[in-house]
Amino acid sequence: MAELILELKNLKKYFPLPNGQSVKAVDGVSLQLFKGETLGLVGESGCGKSTIAYMVVGMYGATEGEIIYKGENLARKGYKRSLKQKGEIQIVFQDPGSSLNSRRNIGKSLELPLKLHSKLSKKERQNRIEELLEMVGLPVDFSKKMPRHIGGGERQLVSVARALGSSPQFIILDEPTSALDVSVQAKVISTLIKLQKQLDLSYLFITHDLSLMRNVATRVAILYLGRLCEVAPTSEFFHSPFHPYTQMLLSSIPVATDEEEKIKPAKIISEGEIPSPVNAPSGCTFHTRCRECMEICRQVIPSMVEIEPNHFVCCHKYPDSGTES
Ligand code: SF4
Repeated sequence: MAELILELKNLKKYFPLPNGQSVKAVDGVSLQLFKGETLGLVGESGCGKSTIAYMVVGMYGATEGEIIYKGENLARKGYKRSLKQKGEIQIVFQDPGSSLNSRRNIGKSLELPLKLHSKLSKKERQNRIEELLEMVGLPVDFSKKMPRHIGGGERQLVSVARALGSSPQFIILDEPTSALDVSVQAKVISTLIKLQKQLDLSYLFITHDLSLMRNVATRVAILYLGRLCEVAPTSEFFHSPFHPYTQMLLSSIPVATDEEEKIKPAKIISEGEIPSPVNAPSGCTFHTRCRECMEICRQVIPSMVEIEPNHFVCCHKYPDSGTES
């Protein structure tokens, strides 16, 4: 059985507003991440994907719930993460331009985590910087260059190299290719896949691009307005989507082969805009856009049920789904 590396239990993040209301950015997410896998966390803009990432790396505190890493609850109030824990959980952000210091050359940016997380001498750090650049497929003389003198894809590869500097076990990839030209996206993705195999890394891959997950993710989790709708192994997810929101998303993605076209759900037109998380709909938050909405959907929050092995769905269409109020 695969080794569990990270577990989120009923994780919530509410941002209070001056008028007493709150934005429920993440509202009770439970997820497991296993060693060596890529879990694709997919949803539309504003659904809470990045908020989950920021809680996992410690940039935001959780309002409620647990983040269990190696038996420790990182979300416990007052819990202070050790340097080792910080090094083992890394993040690569969407925009490599703003995540690299424009006044530092690449070598200095890569040296910083080595100073923090290792006891290497200056010479050893230099060697390690060259090794990190080679690992992401960049020439070693890049260490002398400034971020503005290299391309977007190369900057993102430097960000990946920097994340590797603390010898992480787990990396959150927060839309790592969405700010890049299509021409360089493939290089970044193939480098990430190669590194994962080489270093036995686990990835939480955050994206709004569901089609990208078909060839990258081991499992896919769909998020809508801060709650999970469906979690399944990738092949099953694309063959047998159960949740109406997942079916809507899948019906609108482009496919590359005839076989993919055959299993793609018939086109489902979205019914309206995503509601605001300040005034999220009662019951199932998707009910204002769902063509299959029933009376119970407006009143009762469905809960997650396992309808096939490792395939979880949160919808009243499926038996035993939810009596939470
Ligand atoms: Fe649609 Fe009801 Fe299922 Fe929500 S619970 S997705 S409204 S059928």
